[in-house]
Amino acid sequence: MASIFSRIVSGEIPAAKLYEDDLTLAFLDINPASRGHVLVICKEELPALLDLPPELVAAVAQTVQRVARAINAALQPDGFNVIQNNGAAAGQTVFHYHVHIIPRWNGDQALIPWKAGQISASEQAELVALVQAQLG
Ligand code: 5GP
Repeated sequence: MASIFSRIVSGEIPAAKLYEDDLTLAFLDINPASRGHVLVICKEELPALLDLPPELVAAVAQTVQRVARAINAALQPDGFNVIQNNGAAAGQTVFHYHVHIIPRWNGDQALIPWKAGQISASEQAELVALVQAQLG
């Protein structure tokens, strides 16, 4: 069963499309967090960031920047968030890689900020060692 986004790519279901090239597609989110909330997807149906080859990561990133520039010029928000969820625990609901562009205006409540935590020097050192061991 094709993902909902693959069905948008194929034209089987409609979407308010903004931009498309060989590898990527940008369209309005159907339940926007703010005015101008856009999704940028890779056309190939791959679930999440770690499943993409580097060239597709780059292609989506370039479309994100291109569309964000256009949103900025057209809607003149005070800022914008670029968000990308991986896994249900992170809030991903559509398992077809996509990046959110969410325009923001001063004082809006479009997104809930995270609670800033604290980290000790020893915890930092432990985390750096754990992750660097995997980076090679
Ligand atoms: P996620 O939570 O997976 O990062 O985001 C999925 C997004 O896809 C949600 O913001 C949701 O509103 C959007 N979405 C889900 N189904 C559709 C659809 O059929 N059309 C459009 N345009 N957006 C959709």
